[in-house]
Amino acid sequence: MRNELLSWFAREGLLLTSTTTGAYTDGVDDEIKVVVKAPLVALSRADSDFRECPDPIDFGYPVDCLDYMLLDDMHQFVLSWFEQAVQVRMAHCFVCNKVLDLGEEHPWDAVFVSDPLYCWLLVHFDCKRYLNRDLRGRHPFETGVTSSEYFDFHLDP
Ligand SMILES: [Zn+2]
Repeated sequence: MRNELLSWFAREGLLLTSTTTGAYTDGVDDEIKVVVKAPLVALSRADSDFRECPDPIDFGYPVDCLDYMLLDDMHQFVLSWFEQAVQVRMAHCFVCNKVLDLGEEHPWDAVFVSDPLYCWLLVHFDCKRYLNRDLRGRHPFETGVTSSEYFDFHLDP
């Protein structure tokens, strides 16, 4: 992830940090390691389906877009990214794990959750009430993350 995007999330107060100390030898702490975690996007609830947040400039946003983007703009951008994922049938409902599609009789929504981790995910309207149950017990720093998929779409912000 670009540092600029990381800083943007920091500015919005959306970075999680975890501090660990290394081995304690002879009264000296070897090292203090601070790990930061930016918000994720989840294509399903499977650990292998969590992705780094995509970067708007990869999708046609101006290079300086982060200077003026607000959180609402980021929500809008992530929703567009999700719509592409749904179109190629990669996206699942976080609760029932069914593949989502666009012209569906069971409508779904993109949701941004903040506890126990910052994450965008997709969920059917009807499944939302079970969302907390399925988020419980997740540890943000134990969730493996790979880069997000590139979809060939461009937006005019
Ligand atoms: Zn569902």
